[in-house]
Amino acid sequence: MSMIKCPECGKEISTKAKSCPNCGYPLSKKHSERQSKYYVFNVILIVFGILMALAVLKSNGGLQQNLNAALISWALIIGGVFFLTAFKKKNKVLILVASVFYALSFIAALRSIQIAPAYLMLEIAIGLVLIGNIAFAKKNSII
Ligand SMILES: [Zn+2]
Repeated sequence: MSMIKCPECGKEISTKAKSCPNCGYPLSKKHSERQSKYYVFNVILIVFGILMALAVLKSNGGLQQNLNAALISWALIIGGVFFLTAFKKKNKVLILVASVFYALSFIAALRSIQIAPAYLMLEIAIGLVLIGNIAFAKKNSII
């Protein structure tokens, strides 16, 4: 069972609750499910970023030859963590900063497509999550 924060009083409540037991704020199930979905997408990108950063550290080419990969991975980690924090704190500035990091990662991945076509999948994933995040922030009137 996952927990969400009540948008009204901030108390931790179950996603299965129809209304907040503390203040009675009505919760649409669909809304909370959609919310947790966006958290998951960002967490996946963060995990991927960490794995990629570790791969760069272990590779023989060193940081010099893998500068682009390092940039992609770190921008993903920072952007993802910032997005999650921004959603939690409903912080507009953090949303913008996080978007910049995802965009940076997106651009770096774009440059790597010629090197490895697999980057195209990552490219699409970053783009979709970025657009989804902005749409989600707009829908929840964070931005
Ligand atoms: Zn409440």
